[in-house]
Amino acid sequence: MLLRRVANWPYCSSMASGNTFFDDMRSKPEVIDPPQNEDMLDVSDHVNDPPQHALKSNGTVASNVRELLECPVCLNAMYPPIHQCSNGHTLCSGCKPRVHNRCPTCRHELGNIRCLALEKVAASLELPCKYEAFGCVGIYPYYSKLKHEAQCSFRPYNCPYAGSECTVIGDIPYLVAHLKDDHKVDMHNGSTFNHRYVKSNPHEVENATWMLTVFSCFGQYFCLHFEAFQLGMAPVYIAFLRFMGDDNEAKNYSYSLEVGANGRKMVWQGVPRSIRDSHRKVRDSFDGLIIQRNMALFFSGGDKKELKLRVTGRIWKEQ
Ligand SMILES: [Zn+2]
Ligand SMILES: [Zn+2]
Ligand SMILES: [Zn+2]
Ligand SMILES: [Zn+2]
Repeated sequence: MLLRRVANWPYCSSMASGNTFFDDMRSKPEVIDPPQNEDMLDVSDHVNDPPQHALKSNGTVASNVRELLECPVCLNAMYPPIHQCSNGHTLCSGCKPRVHNRCPTCRHELGNIRCLALEKVAASLELPCKYEAFGCVGIYPYYSKLKHEAQCSFRPYNCPYAGSECTVIGDIPYLVAHLKDDHKVDMHNGSTFNHRYVKSNPHEVENATWMLTVFSCFGQYFCLHFEAFQLGMAPVYIAFLRFMGDDNEAKNYSYSLEVGANGRKMVWQGVPRSIRDSHRKVRDSFDGLIIQRNMALFFSGGDKKELKLRVTGRIWKEQ
């Protein structure tokens, strides 16, 4: 009896005239005049209902409108401009250029018709943040929900493990357990470290050697990345620290890294980057200790057949 997702929806612009009309249209798609009768508005059915009934129905209306706002092609929520074919099938603006002017539902020519009624209905919707399950209690108007969700502090983090296509997401405690259990990452307590990186065939930069160590200090978690990559034509190593949390908190910390041997030393001091920034983004911005391979082999000593780097470091909290 309430708004339902109707696959064969002839008149988007008559949306406001209510569910009865949709049901009619579904069974008689040749009818093209939307009914004028105000009595057909959905809400009028509930005018004399007890309040709790009306409340429950409003929730159902919202979730059904939400379904109507789902693009039938990509299944994403639609945002203005929402398009429709001359038969009223709706389509998101992202999918429109991809369907070669054919309505994906009825194969008729798509043209350039906007579905203003649905756009307006969407504007009246208020929905919970999609990270509700992660603890966000915010309720947002449909059109500002996306903006909030992009910045929501409860949005989960991606797994910070580099070098694999890991798709795990979660909050920090969950990811720490995941790194330990599933990636077998080394975990260390404390804010100072002395780390040895050994690799037997340092000339294979292409098979990028990367390592991740997690440090726990100040009640927080930090990821120390070490890897080989190609900087232009030059094979280099980079080491940098990422903070397991948001950027505004990452800025409260600093860290230093040192590598050297034979009386030479390279020192890097930096600010850990949030794991919101991908490992690749941090690496490609060179925001860390970068060691040329020749220098790395020199620091390794011996016959240059093996990479043996000792990296020492410290993390501290800025006042
Ligand atoms: Zn779409
Ligand atoms: Zn169509
Ligand atoms: Zn939120
Ligand atoms: Zn992972």
